[in-house]
Amino acid sequence: MEEQVDERVLEEIEALEAILMDDVSVKKSTGGTPYLVEADVFPATADDTDQQYVRVTLEVKLNPGYPDNPPEVLLRNPRGLDDERLRVIMEQIEEKCQSCCGDPILYDLIELVREHLTSSNLPACPCTICLYGFSDGDHFIKTTCYHYYHAYCLAEHATKTEKFFREEQEKLPQFQRSQTFEVLCPICREPIKCDVETLSKAPLPLAVQSASIMEPDAKLRELQDYMSALYIQQKEKGGIIDPDAADSKVLLVNEPYYVVIKSSQTVVGSSTSNSNHLYGGGESCTNTEGVRLCLE
Ligand SMILES: [Zn+2]
Ligand SMILES: [Zn+2]
Repeated sequence: MEEQVDERVLEEIEALEAILMDDVSVKKSTGGTPYLVEADVFPATADDTDQQYVRVTLEVKLNPGYPDNPPEVLLRNPRGLDDERLRVIMEQIEEKCQSCCGDPILYDLIELVREHLTSSNLPACPCTICLYGFSDGDHFIKTTCYHYYHAYCLAEHATKTEKFFREEQEKLPQFQRSQTFEVLCPICREPIKCDVETLSKAPLPLAVQSASIMEPDAKLRELQDYMSALYIQQKEKGGIIDPDAADSKVLLVNEPYYVVIKSSQTVVGSSTSNSNHLYGGGESCTNTEGVRLCLE
């Protein structure tokens, strides 16, 4: 039996696709009934995408009987918006859905969200590197993945991660080294294109400049003393791992001896066997099950 598609819905979807083009996607059933509309909403900035600091995806599920029945709405992938702002937008969406039963409201919902984004087109989330918010006058950057950082903080992040990358590369044999370093977004790990030299000229975030210097109080000093004593005790009992020493303990050697650790069994053999883990080098090692192996 052929599906009866509500003319009002078809007309609304057609108009929406003509206006929003790539910013809207509509899912339809095999019978051609639209059941899900997703719209990427940005602030109105006359298409100047560099000036758009917030965004959100509006997902509208068209329940059977829409528009006589209200749709279900969800806000996904918010960028630059804090929970409070999302809550206010959501509240107004729900009001609109309840008050407009019988009228197609997809376009109105998108406009409602857009108005909110336009009136608050400054990231409300904190910079996840320094954990301070964005103040008027701060130099900040919006990545292509719509995450926000103070320019100063991102420059620090990029410089330090590159230094770490180079140091790690130095430890690898030549054939395993990679020359390509990419700055990754600290939140979503998408590669970021940024000019570190320019970013590093940005001033310290205003909130960091005016932050008071933290002085440990008596309670914190007491905790520090306690932790220092604990550290010494753990070190004496062998409970502190020295990463450099630990690195050199686990060696892969061919000759003269090695031990293959397989579950709780210990097998001594030649280097031609290639299964399991190989440990050696005249050190004592511990496998994951806590069996201590002493090698000659
Ligand atoms: Zn920051
Ligand atoms: Zn990101």
